[in-house]
Amino acid sequence: KLFNELQELKGNIRVFCRVRPFLPGQGAPNTVVEYVGEDGELVVTNPTRPGKDGLRKFRFNKVYSPAATQAEVFTDIKPLVRSVLDGFNVCIFAYGQTGSGKTYTMTGPDGASEEDWGVNYRALNDLFKISQSRKGNINYEVGVQMVEIYNEQVLDLLSDDSSQKKYPFWILSTTSQNGLAVPDASMYPVKSTSDVITLMDIGLQNRSVGATAMNERSSRSHSIVTVHVCGKDMKTGSVLYGNLHLVDLAGSERVDRSEVKGDRLREAQHINKSLSSLGDVIFSLASKSSHIPYRNSKLTQLLQSSLGGQAKTLMFVQLNPDAISYSESMSTLKFAERVS
Ligand code: ADP
Ligand code: MG
Repeated sequence: KLFNELQELKGNIRVFCRVRPFLPGQGAPNTVVEYVGEDGELVVTNPTRPGKDGLRKFRFNKVYSPAATQAEVFTDIKPLVRSVLDGFNVCIFAYGQTGSGKTYTMTGPDGASEEDWGVNYRALNDLFKISQSRKGNINYEVGVQMVEIYNEQVLDLLSDDSSQKKYPFWILSTTSQNGLAVPDASMYPVKSTSDVITLMDIGLQNRSVGATAMNERSSRSHSIVTVHVCGKDMKTGSVLYGNLHLVDLAGSERVDRSEVKGDRLREAQHINKSLSSLGDVIFSLASKSSHIPYRNSKLTQLLQSSLGGQAKTLMFVQLNPDAISYSESMSTLKFAERVS
């Protein structure tokens, strides 16, 4: 409901800002977050300029305080997620510096219980449950892919190393009829909550395989869970397709070019390019530009059919409240301001 109301007021791009809490054992916290308003207002303070002069005000479609639960966040985006079953294409992104809570929002903490589940689990589970409840009227197929984009290369996270990629029977017609972007990656049907959990586990595990330091690596790649839905109306025989992309972006922190070389520099350049391309695409869409620069990065190419047109986009902008992160937080907020 929230999303639909907002939708009527503006275009198809929403920005929700989420401030993560201080973590246990972080010492005496010094926060930059001055005020979080019900109406989407956020006030931050510059730690080096105390008082009125250091205050900056931002406004987003929604701002979550550190106390917001995973369930509350999901309640707000449920209508958006469910619109996929009506044939919409939807992209949900998490943007922010490493450690700001992107993975927490999208997936949840390591070894999360159901209560701590992030958007990915909840969305898959909800889609599968709603599709079950419509059985007989509309019969749905739900398929899932997980890929990672690292240095402009797309890696299959659900591959089981057999040479044959698996696709559900209906996906062939999806690609040919709709021209939807189906990444060249394995796809699995989802038929139960435990299927959801199994798939997420395989994906998360594959993301860490081969990487010396999993956190290091995952903060430098984009991970994308794509949910494909095909629904057949049993009365009219008409068929609809929708897809949902759930994107945990690489960390947006600036890297000091004078301090890194080789692989690290190349990674940083790729991340920089893809995040700024994403910003350019969303900005062009929001400002109704006639040219949308999709071709500038793998990420925007892959998501092209789900960005713009009738598609709906939601960006979670993640903030670390710590004063030490002030300048990174400001560049995150400026990115968000540009696209909202
Ligand atoms: P990122 O993916 O942006 O690098 P993480 O999601 O890994 O950041 O979050 C960093 C740390 O903060 C993790 O330990 C995570 O569990 C914790 N965290 C993030 N957001 C929250 C939150 N809303 N509530 C509780 N802990 C959080
Ligand atoms: Mg992460």
